[in-house]
Amino acid sequence: MKPIQTQIPSATWKLLQQQLKYVEENSAFYQEKFQQLGVSANNLKAEDLTQLAITTKDDLASRNEDFICVPKREIIDYVTTSGTLGAPVTFALNEADLQRLAANEEKSFQLAGVTPDDVVQITTTLDRRFIAGMAYFLGLRKLGAGLVRVGSGVPELQWDSINRFQPTYLVAVPSFLIKLGNYAKANGIDCKNTSIKAAICIGESLRDENFQLNALGKKVEELWGIELYSTYASTEMSTAFTECEAHEGNHILEDLIYTEIVDARGNLVNDGEVGELVVTTLGIETMPLIRYATGDLVKKIIEPCKCGREGARLSSVLGRKKQLIKYKGTSIYPPQITEALADWPGIDLHLVKVSISQVGTDHLEVILPDSFQQEKLAALKAHLRAKLRVLPEISFWKTKKLQQTIFNPNHRKPIRFLDERMKTDEV
Ligand SMILES: [Zn+2]
Repeated sequence: MKPIQTQIPSATWKLLQQQLKYVEENSAFYQEKFQQLGVSANNLKAEDLTQLAITTKDDLASRNEDFICVPKREIIDYVTTSGTLGAPVTFALNEADLQRLAANEEKSFQLAGVTPDDVVQITTTLDRRFIAGMAYFLGLRKLGAGLVRVGSGVPELQWDSINRFQPTYLVAVPSFLIKLGNYAKANGIDCKNTSIKAAICIGESLRDENFQLNALGKKVEELWGIELYSTYASTEMSTAFTECEAHEGNHILEDLIYTEIVDARGNLVNDGEVGELVVTTLGIETMPLIRYATGDLVKKIIEPCKCGREGARLSSVLGRKKQLIKYKGTSIYPPQITEALADWPGIDLHLVKVSISQVGTDHLEVILPDSFQQEKLAALKAHLRAKLRVLPEISFWKTKKLQQTIFNPNHRKPIRFLDERMKTDEV
């Protein structure tokens, strides 16, 4: 089969070339890679970009310092990746990178309709070596919107801030919006009657591949009755992909990032097909990445958006490459299990656990709180079998233990997936 070629627009190629030349001059890691391949940024053609090797998370972890392109005295901010799939990795930003990050978030908030007339309450961590909270602050400041830095957790302080400052937007993890909504219910607060008109949601997908709200998204919408915007980003990308008012995919900021979608062998897939997102960051000085494999499975949508903005979009993250579970001959990604459980009334807490069975295959387990009504178990099993085509083992933990595992204060996102296979294949 002939490999798929993509036409890179000349304006994008110019930015890519600048970034390639920059890493060739300044990055020990990429200098070595280019030499091994016998290529030079000066004579590389656009159609040959796919010849460059893919940069992996393992490269970043094992050769971390070799990615740094600026002298140490230039570095301002140190952060680490969230470590969802392994140990956290160091990232560093200089003044130019912080300005780029601010411009990126300004554009991202504009996509979600935020204007200088809005007040945005940030309910995610601003410190703890986390890039996103700071990025939101910088972007909103550049945009000229009002902002309230509440940070993560503390529902009481969140509600006090909503009442006090009358914010119009929240930036939040969807699971936290459910927690905040449940707190409101228990305390006689009407979630549907506040100053909040929309939430910008990070960390968890809100929509399925047809842009419909998934079960998590529906739950948040039912509870709050507000508009929900997805935004997807990571430390490594230093760039956000955000939904516009059409809610049909996350717009790609093409002057800040170049995206490719590849199959398991690293070959480009056709537009509209699911594959792994590979990114090349544009305009980054401290730790630029060339063809970096994110591990996130998405689709690229090239049809024009209803909003009239130009450029392609990405679907929600439909799974993570490393989280693929092969259970009883069926391939499953954890979000499919979460989605099937969220569809079932009354299950607010659950964990998906995968381990290696005695015969070396994946063993899949769904853990529910021990408050689950046992007389409904047979019906739940039938539901899961219908949705997933296989039935995971179901076990029960005490509600408190489950809650503490899911909302672990040392993690930035709720933990819904325990992968015990990682211990054997990741150092
Ligand atoms: Zn749009």
